[in-house]
Amino acid sequence: MSLAIVNGHVMDPASGLSEIANVLIDGTTIAKIGTKLTGTEVIDARDCIVCPGFVDLHVHFREPGQESKETIATGSRAAARGGFTSVVTMANTQPPIDNGGMIEFVHRRAREIACIKIWPAACATKGRAGQEMTEMAELKAVGAVAVTDDGSDIASSWVLRRVLEYANMCGLTYLAHCEDATLMEGGVMNEGYNSTKLGLPGLPKAMEEIRIDRNVRLAAMTGAKIHIQHVSTTEGLDIIRRAKERGVRVTCETAPHYWTLTDDAVTDYGTNAKMNPPLREAEDVAAIKQGLADGTIDCIATDHAPHTFSEKDVEFALAPFGIVGLETALGLILTGLVEPGTIPLERALALITSAPAQILGLPAGRLYEGGPADVTVFNPKTEWTVDPEQFASLSRNTPFAGHRLRGLVQASVCDGDVVYQLSK
Ligand SMILES: [Zn+2]
Repeated sequence: MSLAIVNGHVMDPASGLSEIANVLIDGTTIAKIGTKLTGTEVIDARDCIVCPGFVDLHVHFREPGQESKETIATGSRAAARGGFTSVVTMANTQPPIDNGGMIEFVHRRAREIACIKIWPAACATKGRAGQEMTEMAELKAVGAVAVTDDGSDIASSWVLRRVLEYANMCGLTYLAHCEDATLMEGGVMNEGYNSTKLGLPGLPKAMEEIRIDRNVRLAAMTGAKIHIQHVSTTEGLDIIRRAKERGVRVTCETAPHYWTLTDDAVTDYGTNAKMNPPLREAEDVAAIKQGLADGTIDCIATDHAPHTFSEKDVEFALAPFGIVGLETALGLILTGLVEPGTIPLERALALITSAPAQILGLPAGRLYEGGPADVTVFNPKTEWTVDPEQFASLSRNTPFAGHRLRGLVQASVCDGDVVYQLSK
């Protein structure tokens, strides 16, 4: 069995490879990249980009415990449809992934029902309660790729210091959801002009920035590797930029909604524009784009956070935070960043392939002979309208329904298997 992806523009941002070529896959590996190659199975990639399968460091697949929102099976199909062949699943399931048995459960489910590669993150503290550290050495031994209490921050600086020291000793990166919950006070959207106008309680930017600052300082103090999740504000980025200049081992991600929408969207899209951190203001959108262009932002993650229709179909204050993101990410990147010239295509692809893989040392995000056959084929010119009814995800909570986007995934290949192909 061999698979040839022919006539496409093959791009590997990590090596700089960029040429019209064929990719020959034999079993689970890339056998050859060159001309005049053919296989028993052929994908015609004319007019398409052929690149490493996308990597997302931040998804919520809700299994175990909330399978009406998403499962490892449906989440993986949504990922494949979006061009992602590797995702890091967050640990805030019910119960949370805070022991070796739970990591093994995720791996077993992934082997049984996932069509892409699932790299589970484990909790940093037991029950995500922010009190007692998890057994990180054991978690790493059974395959956790990072530790995080995502969904919340660790309130105690003392506990976080110990977490960072222990994670560092175990060679694990801490993924930091930065939020001073004491400033939350029932806030549901960005605190500013729009929250005042709508009469909704606000989430001040300082709530995020205070903790980016503290968390980065503790990383500097301990020498540990920290990755700041879903950065959304100008000042938050500045803190990270300055820390990088000082040599702190900090990386960060942002998500497509933070450069696409402002808190104006709350008026238009209701609860599907409710996420945490919230959509910010025009100056923050500009700062996020700047951070992506100048390299302060290391990678793009979706923070894919599925919720059922009935959970979101309530008044704004009562709806849960979060939106789905896997099936709109590529379109939002090409339409919002590449087309206007904010960043070139090569950089955009690096942000969802080699860059995130490198942050956690995942064997993914590259395209080379002998490497894993994880490949995404997309047409950068195809225009399409976001229709949530077509999503492979179990959930539909997106603010982008009806948006016209450019750039559509034609096929995703994971370990040599065609796990998604656009029907003609
Ligand atoms: Zn988070």
